Amino acid sequence: MIDFHCHLDLYPDPAKEVRDAEAARVYVLSVTTTPRAWVRTAQLAKGHKRIRTALGLHPQLAHERHSELGLFEELLPRSRYVGEIGLDGGAGYREHSALQRKVFDTILHLSDRGGGRIMSIHSRQAVDEILERLAHVPGAGIPILHWFSGTASQLRRAIDLGCWFSVGPAMLRSAKGKSLASAMPRNRVLTETDGPFASGPNGPLHPVDAGLAARQLAAIWGMSSKEAESQLINNLRSLSETGPDHIRAKSPVGLKVLG
Ligand code: MN
Repeated sequence: MIDFHCHLDLYPDPAKEVRDAEAARVYVLSVTTTPRAWVRTAQLAKGHKRIRTALGLHPQLAHERHSELGLFEELLPRSRYVGEIGLDGGAGYREHSALQRKVFDTILHLSDRGGGRIMSIHSRQAVDEILERLAHVPGAGIPILHWFSGTASQLRRAIDLGCWFSVGPAMLRSAKGKSLASAMPRNRVLTETDGPFASGPNGPLHPVDAGLAARQLAAIWGMSSKEAESQLINNLRSLSETGPDHIRAKSPVGLKVLG
């Protein structure tokens, strides 16, 4: 199982999430919302070979935390994964679009200068702007659009640009989400929960719930859950093997798959 976008540090008991994920052998990309949160969140993953911690600055916090960009730059050499980053054009955030853009652009340029990163990107009501910016800085790395909610034509442009996608149960509940997922290239899809923000029938989702999205994808792809899981694991492997040079899996220990 793969949960390629969750917020381990925001659960009431993060250590329990880590233990449960380890026991269930879930590959986890633990994203952060501020650079300041990264150090202690990365500590949670220590010694857990299937968990990686992405350095982020969430677009909904950009106006409050843009002063942490210096810290972001300082920490970036320590992480091959960046996220959660992006833009949010929704109500309540649109008015901060100038600062959001400044933060996002700065992060893309820093990642480019650092040789590229695997990036988990929030694009709610801002897909056109995201794609335009990614196109300007192709060396920033591999963009993974998390919980994509744009139009079919925006999806086609994202695919043409080389984007990957992480999809979760919340997205796959709606007819629109299902139809978008069915149009994504199968070899560029990963699963996520976006817990604890996203919820399932029994409350906030946990990394151990990552199999839910895999089962939903299996139905969309017309295959068994086992086949879908193996497609997803192959995708994760290819992501770590085809990434920019220095984000490729090199480590002799631990993460053969995650890189
Ligand atoms: Mn998130």
